Amino acid sequence: MKELSRITETFSESVIREMTRICDAVGGYNLSQGFPDFESPKAIKEAAIAAIDGEWNQYPVTYGEPELREAISKKVWNYNGIKCSPETDITVTCGATEAMIATLKAIINPGDEIIVFEPFYENYGPDGILSGATPRYVTLYAPDWSFSSEELAGAFNEKTKAIVINTPNNPTGKVFSRAELEEIAALCVKWDAYAVTDEIYEHILYDGARHISMATIPGMEVRTVTINSISKTYSVTGWRVGWAIANEFITRRIRKVHDFLTVGAPTPFQHAAAAALSFPDEYYVGLQAHYAEARKFLFDLLQKVGFQCSMPQGAYYIIAGISGLMRKLGVDDDFSFSRKLIEVTGVATVPGSSFYSDPGKGRTQVRFCFCKKWETLYAVEEALNKLSEFTREQCL
Ligand code: GLN
Repeated sequence: MKELSRITETFSESVIREMTRICDAVGGYNLSQGFPDFESPKAIKEAAIAAIDGEWNQYPVTYGEPELREAISKKVWNYNGIKCSPETDITVTCGATEAMIATLKAIINPGDEIIVFEPFYENYGPDGILSGATPRYVTLYAPDWSFSSEELAGAFNEKTKAIVINTPNNPTGKVFSRAELEEIAALCVKWDAYAVTDEIYEHILYDGARHISMATIPGMEVRTVTINSISKTYSVTGWRVGWAIANEFITRRIRKVHDFLTVGAPTPFQHAAAAALSFPDEYYVGLQAHYAEARKFLFDLLQKVGFQCSMPQGAYYIIAGISGLMRKLGVDDDFSFSRKLIEVTGVATVPGSSFYSDPGKGRTQVRFCFCKKWETLYAVEEALNKLSEFTREQCL
């Protein structure tokens, strides 16, 4: 058999998705892949059913149904302060995942570099490889996940094509401040680089944190691609409707890549998405209220049973230090820890190394998500308490 593609040879299976499969196989509690296990909002489900019944079942306009682009444009003006034309500046894609790869494919040439903050959402690694970019990593340092100005400035050079930003951040929960975004913006302007910003958790914020879009920082309107999706905000991660917003020059290219990659995102779900984007403010208040309580519950629980964590400011993940527990469970890395944890408690997590370019950096971390209903979270509490018993027994 002839050799398969060399660039994809190094890909490992997505650890996040793999953990979901392992968890399902043992009927465990899935705190690994970030998706809600509670019901999606009734109004969005009714809108999807109405769209199917209304015969919105054929190909959409490839770059997005007009009704949805119109709704996105209004929403980003009201919530983010981004001015964009539904005609020329928006591409609707199959989730933020496709928006990211279509954007990178649209802007990268061989030899180009992209800057990625680390730890990073695991897809950005393969996205870089598939688009042919060479990644340069800039560390976010615990406990507040700040970066070093020197290290950031040192990562830019004439080969830098883009910087990938994710705020609120997966997996750290960091919400980039205006000052940080301005610092990044000044470097993008200096080196003529694009900012590709994944803002999928923009409505999931805590303790008064405010979401700021890079596209609103002066000088960045023309060089930012803003990526988002309905997955997390409306708890419909399986619908695969996302988008990329960028000026006409960039959008024209993203639309071509998108068209040949997927033709379009599911038509009826685009119509339902348009309806969801005009949900009243109370919807977002309710979503945040649930996640704020779930965050505190999981944080307290993890601390109690021996993990070391810092409180996220946004998104729905907690990165937890496992150094102490690793010793007690007789394991010596994040992968064996995750396997042991699911075996002993039934709770699935993501091994920390999947968020780093050098797996060694994540060896003493795992990621938990808390986008779950109370019933699940209470069951997780009981399950993780077993861990304390297990470790006590081991110590006797
Ligand atoms: N963003 C989610 C996570 O980090 C899910 C990613 C996915 O599987 N598409 O867990």
